[in-house]
Amino acid sequence: MCGIFGIYNNTRAAELATLGLFAEQHRGQESCGMAVNDGITIKLRKKMGLVKEVFRPEKLIDLQGDIAIGHVRYPTRGGASEYNAQPHLVETLSGPSYALTSNGDLVNYAEAREVLESKGVYFASTNDGELLLKYIVYEVEKRGTSIPEAICRMMKYVKGAFSSVLATKEEMFIFRDPYGFRPLTYGELENGSIVVASESCALDILFPRWQKEVLPAEIITVSRNGITTMKNDPMEYRSTANDRHCIFEHIYFSRPDSYIFDENVYLIRQRIGCLLAEDDDVKADLVIPVPDSSNFMAMGYAKKRGLHFELGLIRNHYVGRTFIKPEQTIRDETVYQKFNPLPNFFQGKSIILVDDSIVRGTTIRKIIKMIRNAGAGEIHLRIGSPPVKYSCYYGIDTPTSEELIANSKEIDEIRSYINADSLKYLSMEQLKRAVSKPEDYCYACFNGDYPVR
Ligand code: SF4
Repeated sequence: MCGIFGIYNNTRAAELATLGLFAEQHRGQESCGMAVNDGITIKLRKKMGLVKEVFRPEKLIDLQGDIAIGHVRYPTRGGASEYNAQPHLVETLSGPSYALTSNGDLVNYAEAREVLESKGVYFASTNDGELLLKYIVYEVEKRGTSIPEAICRMMKYVKGAFSSVLATKEEMFIFRDPYGFRPLTYGELENGSIVVASESCALDILFPRWQKEVLPAEIITVSRNGITTMKNDPMEYRSTANDRHCIFEHIYFSRPDSYIFDENVYLIRQRIGCLLAEDDDVKADLVIPVPDSSNFMAMGYAKKRGLHFELGLIRNHYVGRTFIKPEQTIRDETVYQKFNPLPNFFQGKSIILVDDSIVRGTTIRKIIKMIRNAGAGEIHLRIGSPPVKYSCYYGIDTPTSEELIANSKEIDEIRSYINADSLKYLSMEQLKRAVSKPEDYCYACFNGDYPVR
C-alpha cells in the first residue's frame, strides 16, 4: 500500500505536498519522496523514513517549483530500498523530464519489463512505478505519441492496479487503472491550483473548492490552459463488466475521515459493526475495539446491541502499523510496543473484542494474551471481514496464501490458536450489504476470484 500526492501551479508546491503526504503517512512508512519542477529541471528527494524526517523545513528550500508530486511507500513489489522508493525520474537529453508516482501492483510486471528491456530500456529498480513510467516514456520518445495516448497504450498492455500521477516540466497527468482498484481523488484549491491524492483526507487539509474521484481508465491532463479529461471506456481495457475497488480500503487501509469509492469510510465501518451484531447474542459487559481501524466497527456493534463501548486498549501512535512492517520479526516486537491495556480495567470482565481482519493470527493472539493477563474473563472476538484466505496481487502486502491462517485452518481451529472464547467473522453476504454498490468491489483475498492475473 502506498499514498500519492500531486499539486500543480502553486509556488508552495513542495510545502503543500509535504502536508498532503503527511496526511497519508498511514499508507506507507518505509520511505517517501518528492519530485519538484521549477520549469527548468525536476529535482528529486527520496529517502527511507517518515515524511516529517525526510522533508524537514530546511530540506524544502532545495525543492522550489510550482509542480510537485510525492509518494509514501510501504514495500510490496521490490524490497525496502531507496532505489525502489518513488517518485521515479526519466532524464532525456534536455535533463530530467518525466517523474511518476503510483499506488498499486502490476500482475504482468516481469513480462512487461522483459519486453522493454529487449528494446534497450534500462531499469534502476524493481518497482512497478518505474515500469509504468518507462513504458510511457518509451512510447512518447521512441514512437512520438502524445502522453495521454502513451498512457492509453500502456493501459492496454500493462495489467494490475495503478493510481498514478506523472509530471513533466509543463504538465501533470493523473490516471487510474481500468478496474479502479486503488482510490484517487483530485480537486482545485481556491487559488486555482490542481491537487490530487490517494485519499480525500489529504486534500481536505488544503480546503479545496471542489474534489472528485478520478474514474477508472480516466486520464486527466493538467496544463497552463486548465484541465482536460479523457474519459476512456474501462471496458476497452479490462475483462470485468464492473469496477473492482479494493474492499480492504474500507475495512482497514483508508482513514475513516476519507471519502472513497463514493462512500464515507467511517460509515461503512459502522455498518460492518452493525452487521456483525446481527444474530449475535453472546453475553458480555463491554465492546472493545482493537484500535484504530476497528473503532467505528466496534461502535456500530455496540450501538446495534445496546452494549457499552469502551476504549480498553491504548495504542501508541508513534509505532507504525503492525501490518505494514515488512519483516515478521519487527512485526512481532511491535505488537507489545503498540498496544497496552488500561490499568485495572479488564479485571473479571467479559468482553467482545472487535478487530477488522485476521491475517496470520499472530498479532491478535498476542493481544488476547495481553488482555487475559490484564484479568479479563471471557473474550469473544468479532472480525469485521470474512476470513482472509488468498494473497493480494494489487498492492497490498498480504503474505503468501500458506501464511494466511484462514487458508489452512477452520474457524474453530483459529479460535483455539488465538485462545478466544468465541470467534465470529463477518460473512461475504454481510460485507456486500455494507457497501452501496457491492458489484463494484474486489473480494479476491476472501474468495480467490481475481479480476486480473
Ligand atoms: S485482493 Fe483483497 S486486498 Fe487485494 S485488491 Fe482485492 S480486496 Fe483488496
